[in-house]
Amino acid sequence: MTKSVSLFIGGEFCQSETKDWIEVTNPATNEVIAKVPHATTTEMEQAIVNAEETFHEWKNVAISERARLMLRYQHLLKEHHDELAEILSQETGKTIVDAKGDVWRGIEVVEQAGNIASNMMGETVENVATDIDTYSLIQPLGVCCGITPFNFPAMIPLWMFPLAIAAGNTFVLKPSEQVPLTAMRLVELFEQAGAPRGVLQVVHGGKEQVDFLLANPVIKAVSFVGSVPVAKYIYQTSTSYNKRVQAFAGAKNHMVVMPDANKAQVVNSLVGASVGAAGQRCMAISVAVFVGDSKEWIGDLATELAKVRPGVWNDEKAGYGPLISKEARSRVVRLIDEGKAQGAKCELDGTQCVVDGYPNGNWLGPTLFSGVTTDMSIYEQEIFGPVLVCLEVETLEDAIKLINENPYGNGTSIFTANGAAARKYQHEIQVGQVGINVPIPVPLPFFSFTGWRGSFYGDLHAYGKQAVRFYTETKTVTTRWFEDDIPTGPNMTIQLK
Ligand code: NAD
Repeated sequence: MTKSVSLFIGGEFCQSETKDWIEVTNPATNEVIAKVPHATTTEMEQAIVNAEETFHEWKNVAISERARLMLRYQHLLKEHHDELAEILSQETGKTIVDAKGDVWRGIEVVEQAGNIASNMMGETVENVATDIDTYSLIQPLGVCCGITPFNFPAMIPLWMFPLAIAAGNTFVLKPSEQVPLTAMRLVELFEQAGAPRGVLQVVHGGKEQVDFLLANPVIKAVSFVGSVPVAKYIYQTSTSYNKRVQAFAGAKNHMVVMPDANKAQVVNSLVGASVGAAGQRCMAISVAVFVGDSKEWIGDLATELAKVRPGVWNDEKAGYGPLISKEARSRVVRLIDEGKAQGAKCELDGTQCVVDGYPNGNWLGPTLFSGVTTDMSIYEQEIFGPVLVCLEVETLEDAIKLINENPYGNGTSIFTANGAAARKYQHEIQVGQVGINVPIPVPLPFFSFTGWRGSFYGDLHAYGKQAVRFYTETKTVTTRWFEDDIPTGPNMTIQLK
């Protein structure tokens, strides 16, 4: 029988009363592995009411106790690292190596949540006026919610609820309906770590359930990660309800290749960063910008990309897994066809790829285009597949101009042996995460995940100090004590007046 995914409301794993279920499939076979509910309005309401009630107790729990919960949680996550990665591989199709990385990047955020007290310290100034002091308190917001995408089923939920809860909030999570199983295992382990009932609630569903969260006045802040149109919608809708929001969106990440770069490093980095995880990473390099003579390396790049093949999660020789769904694959194939029709040169075509023994999987081989121009749809749109497009420019200035004119600003990278070129690039590029001879510059959680422009709607980013600011409010207190109130002599009576 197909497994029915539970809701998690008021500390109980419970089956939804809904009649409306969505199938969860294994992308390597398209077999149905579970079904996930569209939570009913009553269930949504229960989750939110319970989160609100719990908040009034949880915000008063000592900060060191909240931090200890995170320390126990990160320990349990490490113990269950491989098991979590296997669940994740089943529902995303990711190779086990990649799945382990997904889980690990989440654990690193939980480690930081264990350090919450030092990130919630306020500031003090003595004598802002004579005998008057001002200090600030960092206080939790209330009930926060998170809406997550399919492509990092462990890491992205862990970007959100551990820090929000450590800061004293309660949290309602709505995981991607395409990959709910990893999220539910994360929640079971959170409960095992000793999370008090009600600090975390999990609801499932799609637009209707998300709209319910956005419109509900109890929810104070919305964290979202997903595609561009939905991110814009979440930002606009949440702000119209006067909520705080951080919405991380899609991307088009460019890697600039200078002619003085180390060729072997360039080719290896481009291969891994473009088709790794089937290109389904918001920080994947999807555009290579060859400056000057470096374009001569495109042939070597095609040769190395052709050696990579997709396969199932436990195939040790597989470079990456299938795309998440048949629809996702059809969309990428359509964009590849448009690239050919619009005049780009298809150096390597992955559309006919087959994987022995898995005829129904959503496979796509590595695909490489050269001669791409900025008006082609393969350049304009986020492809989110194992497809790399190559553009050629004359100078570093041309590369910077091209990238700054692209609407997205999530990540970028430059490969060069010249420090001055690297410095000019990091200074002038309008992209929030820059790698210098590093293809996918995702910051560790003591920094924040700082996408810019069309890749991010909001002000404060995920994890690190910015996330603690996002999930908290600052209160300033100004105090004055009168010297006259200090008792002048011993009080010999026990009588209180
Ligand atoms: P998606 O936008 O389809 O779904 C994300 C979440 O939004 C899911 O939980 C889904 O149920 C919900 N949702 C979908 N349609 C909705 C609607 N109309 N109204 C309200 N909610 C809706 O994204 P996806 O396909 O799951 O994820 C892939 C996308 O996420 C890519 O574009 C990728 O670049 C982006 N992404 C961005 C980052 C980042 O940090 N910038 C990180 C990971 C993924």
